[in-house]
Amino acid sequence: MTTHDIVVVGGGIVGLATANALADLGASVIVLEAESRLASHQTGHNSGVIHSGLYYKPGSLKARTCVTGRKELYAFCEESGVPVRRCGKLVIATDDAELPRLTMLEERGRANGLQGLKRLDRADIRHLDPEVAGVAGLWVAETGVVDFGMVAQALAARLQRQGGGVRTGARVVTITSHAGDVQVETAHGDRVAARLLVNCAGLQSDRLARLTGVDPAIAIIPFRGDYYTLRPERASLVRNLVYPVPDPDLPFLGVHFTRRIDGRVEAGPNAVLALHRERYSPWALSPRDAGAVFAFPGFWRMALRFWSVGLSEAGRSWSKTLFVRALQRLVPAIRAPDLQRGGCGIRAQAVDASGRLLDDYHIVEGETSIHLVNAPSPAATASLSIGRELGGRVLERLDARVGRALRETVTNLRQS
Ligand SMILES: Cc1cc2nc3c(=O)[nH]c(=O)nc-3n(C[C@H](O)[C@H](O)[C@H](O)COP(=O)(O)OP(=O)(O)OC[C@H]3O[C@@H](n4cnc5c(N)ncnc54)[C@H](O)[C@@H]3O)c2cc1C
Repeated sequence: MTTHDIVVVGGGIVGLATANALADLGASVIVLEAESRLASHQTGHNSGVIHSGLYYKPGSLKARTCVTGRKELYAFCEESGVPVRRCGKLVIATDDAELPRLTMLEERGRANGLQGLKRLDRADIRHLDPEVAGVAGLWVAETGVVDFGMVAQALAARLQRQGGGVRTGARVVTITSHAGDVQVETAHGDRVAARLLVNCAGLQSDRLARLTGVDPAIAIIPFRGDYYTLRPERASLVRNLVYPVPDPDLPFLGVHFTRRIDGRVEAGPNAVLALHRERYSPWALSPRDAGAVFAFPGFWRMALRFWSVGLSEAGRSWSKTLFVRALQRLVPAIRAPDLQRGGCGIRAQAVDASGRLLDDYHIVEGETSIHLVNAPSPAATASLSIGRELGGRVLERLDARVGRALRETVTNLRQS
């Protein structure tokens, strides 16, 4: 049995950022990761875009942490030698009906304090990206690209330099409370005791919460997103990151083009129900995961509300022709042979019993635990800021037990 102040469950970017924030506050921390490699799930299977903070409701946790987290992330990458590119992106209105939403987006961006935001006309778009078609657009200067898996590795190395622990192959299967402390046991029988547990288990976060006896009042519904890659000889068709104007109700939908940090141009992702939370083959099926989705009343309420969107997303998943048609709205010259199958990712989306998709990050607390049960995009961008937010909550909880020294450190840090 090893003993620490805090045990963080989940070695994705958010768990590692949280552990770093806690180590900076002087706490002894260990991260337990189920897989043999850190960042095996969402953190290692995403678009790799450092979001600016354009889309999110001003004042929301998402908006606040995206803007501050983005700045910290650029600084962290530069300090730790992780390749990063602040390349900007284009948001394109493909017809006049989208103009009011483009204007709303521009206002949001300004309210969120974005710098270098610029309205574009047709000629500007043609100048920046000659094959992109649009009636108007926005240039978002602060967007960038990075490999979030590499950021996670750099965070783990930093944590270890600070004296924190990182254990892979350590799936937490049992959690119990003893005299106000928490004890966890992994599938291999290792035991760890701590004053508090922080759950950053992404796609498994609802289950982890229940293991501690906390009802998170949501279920994680896994949504698969498939990508295509532009063949290298056609990659010059798209120079920038090119995004459509999002639907405000479903901002994560809408296939886009991303020129990644390694130079590949990816198109996607779509969003379809996944029947396995952690396997990436299109045929993967887990009776437990699928059963949990279909037994959850909120899923059926959501399905009733969004059935037509769901069908068109599924259509794009099975038909390359439909996928290409969606891309042609942004880049008319693109043809099916220009694209080859790329990777895919699975999003952890929290849905409540009424069928509502939770938009903002959602934290619930138990007696000896804190659970981040909704951390969708842009949580990778915002991870350093979310980590400090969770670290602050942990501190408030530990205050009485760990004492004044830690409280003074955090006050000084907040003031500096
Ligand atoms: C397709 C896609 C595209 C995206 N694009 C972007 C983007 O461009 N920009 C952006 O900012 N965000 C993006 N996101 C969102 C971003 O990837 C996530 O918000 C972020 O990675 C969440 O990090 P996490 O650490 O919470 O979760 P994860 O990375 O999923 O980490 C959770 C970890 O917990 C571990 N775990 C689970 N159960 C246990 C257990 N019982 N014991 C121990 N460990 C456990 C898992 O193995 C996993 O490693 C995208 C997501 C997807 C899926």
